[in-house]
Amino acid sequence: MYRTHYSNQITEELNGRKVKVAGWVWEVKDLGGIKFLWIRDREGIVQITAPKKRVKPGIFNLMPKLNAEDVVAVEGIVNFTPKAKLGFEILPETLEVLSRAESPLPLDPTGKVKAELDTRLDNRFMDLRNPEVMAIFKIRSTALRAVRDFFHMNGFIEIHTPKIIATATEGGTELFPMKYFEKNAFLAQSPQLYKQMMMASGLDRVYEIAPIFRAEEHNTTRHLNEAWSIDAEMAFIENEEEVMRFLERLVAYTINYVREHNAKELEALSLNLEEPKLPFPRLSYDGALDILNDLGKEVPWGEDIDTEGERLLGRYMLENENAPLYFLYRYPSEVKPFYIMKYGDEPEICRAFDLEYYGVEITSGGQREHRTDVLEEQIREKGLSPESFEFYLKTFRYGMPPHGGFGLGAERLIKQMLDLNNIREVILFPRDRKRLTP
Ligand code: ATP
Ligand code: MG
Repeated sequence: MYRTHYSNQITEELNGRKVKVAGWVWEVKDLGGIKFLWIRDREGIVQITAPKKRVKPGIFNLMPKLNAEDVVAVEGIVNFTPKAKLGFEILPETLEVLSRAESPLPLDPTGKVKAELDTRLDNRFMDLRNPEVMAIFKIRSTALRAVRDFFHMNGFIEIHTPKIIATATEGGTELFPMKYFEKNAFLAQSPQLYKQMMMASGLDRVYEIAPIFRAEEHNTTRHLNEAWSIDAEMAFIENEEEVMRFLERLVAYTINYVREHNAKELEALSLNLEEPKLPFPRLSYDGALDILNDLGKEVPWGEDIDTEGERLLGRYMLENENAPLYFLYRYPSEVKPFYIMKYGDEPEICRAFDLEYYGVEITSGGQREHRTDVLEEQIREKGLSPESFEFYLKTFRYGMPPHGGFGLGAERLIKQMLDLNNIREVILFPRDRKRLTP
């Protein structure tokens, strides 16, 4: 075992004790009679101090020969002293080079020399050695853990649905076609139909965290061609409000969990993540159009609110309601998919909602239409054929409870939570129009 402790596990009780640390060479300093080495591991940095008189000559001579990013392991004695920058140092008894790093490096992991996003993504393994970048992925891990915990605390069952599918979820756009032996197939753009089908199985409350594939036309800072979706579906709901109430608690729980467990990472990102206030405001589509109108942006009733409209609303809601998170609901039926239930008394509007976070959509959801005849009619209205949805429609004919759910984009959530400019920052290996490797 090369490591007994991560850098952050070396506490004052270990003073005078022997430990093993291992990691990448961050910096070396040679002051003649005393040499320093800083080693970076996942949790931070440790200082190795080598005064000529107190360490073996082999170690003393090797230290200045190390290159940045070599992988090393050190065994030594912990010494807490106010003289050390970090409050303690390790006096080495052994120093082993486990792997050499070539130079020059493809990018500077300390972040002092800024690199373009493309260079960083081409060299993602090294980009992650920058503690700020690594912080993002530690937070992503914590956030997804919180999401899972919250689902389980609320009686949800995790499911896994196919990613190779025969039918488009919502019409023919944005799909990646693929060959499936003699047949044509697609990569799933969402688990929508399958999670709904599970409502007829009696599982009642299900969730899935899995990739979705979308052949998005444009290169934007908030679209990926492969993204991770947090999907949920719940049966026996009376209206979409019940879904919104669950979702807002899930998002608030996740943000608070990150606040609690990622204080160090949030600090590395210089971020002050505030506790969200529940409930999130609900803004109707009509209300949103009025606000946009006042802001000088005309959106004809029945059209979707575009990216600029969302951004304007986001700023308005933050400035006037102090609300980074809010729901848009009571959408026109024509802008939402066939599976959304319409209001009985006002069929031109439907039980769909979006959750917005700083003016960017992070979730779409709603109550679904569970009455087979109405659902078939809605499929036709969208210009689709019920025949190609037979495998789905069948599950509605033998006892389908009222239900609803949502799809929450993991990358959108993290990007907005961390106030980052580009969605590519929050996924290890982004897939976009140009990028298929690494
Ligand atoms: P947008 O209009 O912002 O492109 P959408 O309405 O097409 O999104 P939905 O089909 O509603 O997206 O998908 C549900 C959620 O999945 C979205 O709210 C978003 O968080 C996430 N999502 C959808 N498409 C992408 C994508 N291409 N890249 C990253 N996340 C996505
Ligand atoms: Mg949407």
